[in-house]
Amino acid sequence: MNIHEYQAKELLAKFGIGIPAGVAATTVDQAVAGAETLPGPLYVVKAQIHAGGRGKGKFKELGADAKGGVRLAKSIDDVRGDAEEMLGNTLVTAQTGDAGKEVNRLYVTDGVDIKEEYYLALLVDRASGRVAMVVSTEGGMDIEAVAHGTPEKITTITIDPLAGFTDSDGRKAADALELSGDLADACVALTGNLYEAFLKLDCAMLEINPLVETDDGQLLVLDTKMSFDSNAEFRHPEWAALRDESEEDPMELEASKHDLAYIKLDGNIGCMVNGAGLAMATMDIIKLNGAFPANFLDVGGGATKEKVTSAFKIILSDPAVEGILVNIFGGIMKCDIIAEGIVAAAKEVDLDVPLVVRLEGTNVAKGKDILANSGLPIVSADDLGDAARKIVAQVRK
Ligand code: ADP
Ligand code: MG
Repeated sequence: MNIHEYQAKELLAKFGIGIPAGVAATTVDQAVAGAETLPGPLYVVKAQIHAGGRGKGKFKELGADAKGGVRLAKSIDDVRGDAEEMLGNTLVTAQTGDAGKEVNRLYVTDGVDIKEEYYLALLVDRASGRVAMVVSTEGGMDIEAVAHGTPEKITTITIDPLAGFTDSDGRKAADALELSGDLADACVALTGNLYEAFLKLDCAMLEINPLVETDDGQLLVLDTKMSFDSNAEFRHPEWAALRDESEEDPMELEASKHDLAYIKLDGNIGCMVNGAGLAMATMDIIKLNGAFPANFLDVGGGATKEKVTSAFKIILSDPAVEGILVNIFGGIMKCDIIAEGIVAAAKEVDLDVPLVVRLEGTNVAKGKDILANSGLPIVSADDLGDAARKIVAQVRK
């Protein structure tokens, strides 16, 4: 789960982390009123969307010369002008895709005199099974290029979970950022606080780019991206208020309400499968047969009729879907029960695209009979290869 920059900064500030003052706004008047509470004379007006690369982004509705999604404003009037241009318009960045994202929220923040820009991130490193801190002197807007071209400029520090974050880890970060004296001390304190925040907030990723050294010798977080580990949702009731559903894919949002693991993809064959591994294999075999899956969908172990119906509805709400492949292994759930669920769901949603069903497992013969006698044009398949060939042939007709 991702949150906005302004929300992440409010959370980090509680851990004693240096953040420039700022105010979130959803209207031009709020942006102006917010700017008036800041010291000035330099303000920064920042689009709040769940995507990075805003500084270099372009607004669809504005000309190519117009400023991007992070704007320096030299007066309150400029803040007003920028807010008017940004709110309600669509920002396209390297991370939004061509469709871009509509900007409905701004963050007006204090302009900072930057001496140096650094990069710092904390993430769960699967290779070491530990939290890793990644730092680089090459902060700013081109970190992806640094990772590609000059990876030696990126230092990774893995944190021992038993010892926790030590001063020695903090020194390593300061050394990698080429900081000395008071700034190195500030870096040790800051990195320790960031690690504490990462653990307590149950982050999956916390990226700070840039972390800056200011002209007056402070280390400040100028931009941050924070995402939470959804597995820890049960102990964070406060996350509900941080969620911005307008930033999420509507179909994925609907699926999460029915406890379905659904990810929208680019192809035209809708998939309904039980078990993530089987769902991956199903997508692979569709591709092997020359077509592309429209989604990943795992209905889970106990696929009830209600779940199957919701899954059908979600798959069919995607206009790209031209056929559906159901691939279910009846282990805990018996195949006849699943078949009844599929038939009932197909009738309820007025299925109007070809449907190929591959069932395997307990009571498979009974299940296939139910499909065959349903009066619906359901094509039954014997195995996964057969199923993939049949659905690909159906959508190509
Ligand atoms: P993004 O990464 O989405 O492009 P950032 O918040 O990192 O957005 O902003 C892009 C650049 O704008 C930063 O690298 C920094 O140079 C500048 N910037 C951002 N916030 C401020 C600020 N408060 N004061 C001065 N410059 C800023
Ligand atoms: Mg940034």
